[in-house]
Amino acid sequence: MRNKKIIIANWKMNGNRAAVIAFMSQLRKINHLDINISVCLPFPYLETAQQILINSKITLGAQDVSAQKNGAYTGDVSADMLKEFGCQFVLVGHSERRHAYKETDDFVLAKTRQALMASLNPVICVGESVAERESQMTEAVVLSQVEAVLKPLTKSEREKCVIAYEPLWAIGSGLSATPTQAQQVHASIRSRLDEIDSGLSRLIPIIYGGSLKPESADGLFEQQDIDGGLVGSASLKFDDFVAIIRSTSKSKANL
Ligand code: PEP
Repeated sequence: MRNKKIIIANWKMNGNRAAVIAFMSQLRKINHLDINISVCLPFPYLETAQQILINSKITLGAQDVSAQKNGAYTGDVSADMLKEFGCQFVLVGHSERRHAYKETDDFVLAKTRQALMASLNPVICVGESVAERESQMTEAVVLSQVEAVLKPLTKSEREKCVIAYEPLWAIGSGLSATPTQAQQVHASIRSRLDEIDSGLSRLIPIIYGGSLKPESADGLFEQQDIDGGLVGSASLKFDDFVAIIRSTSKSKANL
């Protein structure tokens, strides 16, 4: 999957049906064949978006998935259900879920396995808090989150994953990591991937998320180990999202 840049929108619990229709109808006109563009919508809007995106290269994603296959799990949505609505990606371990719902690494692993069994590409979100960064724990925290999910998987399962590095202090704060800060963590993740499995670093995309805006995108996407972005609030404004998509084609970094 690391042959193209990836831009994934995370709408979180925002928007409504009319906004989804307007956004997707405009987005499908964009023909960036060399970029993998996906939008993670709230579950109820997936079907509407799926209809609009028929015969489009743009894909859908979900913001979460059940850790179980099916059964008595009130409120959960299974990976098979997401697949039926045309999802390619699913976020797992987003920091808002790790923190608000106390999701552990094991739980994130269970969700990752469910996603893989349904042929979805899990986007494994990792990142450190401001306190962890200030106490020089960034790499230890991030690499341990990466290993907890990837190590138990098989080689072919690992190759279907995407990693999203999202420092907690950057999410929704308006304060993006600098290109240098982000590149440093991405490079550490990349070298750890090869320790887990030789050659894996060439296959797994590592994307950046956290207050990614049109103004910060160019500098971040120029970094050698940043393979795209996970975009929260800026993905709610069509023009900003498209400006971020355009930044990827300006980037000089080779995949
Ligand atoms: C996110 O929540 O995944 C995210 C990147 O949000 P924002 O861009 O708003 O920081």
